[in-house]
Amino acid sequence: MEQTTTHSPSSIFHLLSSRNLLRLLFPGRCRVCQTGYPDGAPFLCPACWGVMAPFPPPWCPQCGRPFASPETLTASPDHRCGPCRADPPLFDTVRAYGPYEGPLKEALHLLKYSHKMALAVPLAERMAVRMAEFPPVDALLAVPLHPRRLRRRGFNQSLLLAHVLSRQAGLSLLVDALQRVRWTRPQIGLDDQERKRNVRGAFAVIQPETIAEKRVLLVDDVLTTGATADACARVLRKAGAESVHLLTAARSC
Ligand SMILES: [Zn+2]
Ligand SMILES: [Zn+2]
Repeated sequence: MEQTTTHSPSSIFHLLSSRNLLRLLFPGRCRVCQTGYPDGAPFLCPACWGVMAPFPPPWCPQCGRPFASPETLTASPDHRCGPCRADPPLFDTVRAYGPYEGPLKEALHLLKYSHKMALAVPLAERMAVRMAEFPPVDALLAVPLHPRRLRRRGFNQSLLLAHVLSRQAGLSLLVDALQRVRWTRPQIGLDDQERKRNVRGAFAVIQPETIAEKRVLLVDDVLTTGATADACARVLRKAGAESVHLLTAARSC
């Protein structure tokens, strides 16, 4: 027998409640592919969230740089990449969720430059899949912004990501231990050497007692040349950190 669905006045009212009505009239439009969608994760359509793929293995066990061949680590699982052997990095372990391109790049831009802070949660959830690849850590830190830039932007995107990760992992977040003490111009547009010079002396550990003998994990949004992260690692090591690791949402190197 054919079934018919009837709506009582109250269910129709519910259907047309302000939220549903808004979605009906103005469906969300994906910021990457412009597809309209009524529901889904914030700002990007489910399909674009779906293609946001993590780096496939293998990668260098230390710096996390992806290896071209899947055979590379088969014979020697602890084999580090050439750059790590030639010039050991300041970080014990570096990992990123995925490459800095496509929907992941767009989502990070929306978070950082368009103040779409709700994106910190789904992005940090993706970063969290990498947590198991680090040895045990005692606390998380975020790459800090200079107070002037923080006032201008209103928030630190790396701290938002670190906050979500620390809650998920049940680890403490050291908010004030590492600070940016010198104003620097943005790294965008600078070459490797200029980036290193630009951030030299820009960071300081204000509370060394919270860092000494600790295994710390630094969180940032994007790893580009590593100049900023290295400047942070240098002062964390000087403050007596037992080990320093780095986790970013994306990397472009
Ligand atoms: Zn899309
Ligand atoms: Zn390496």
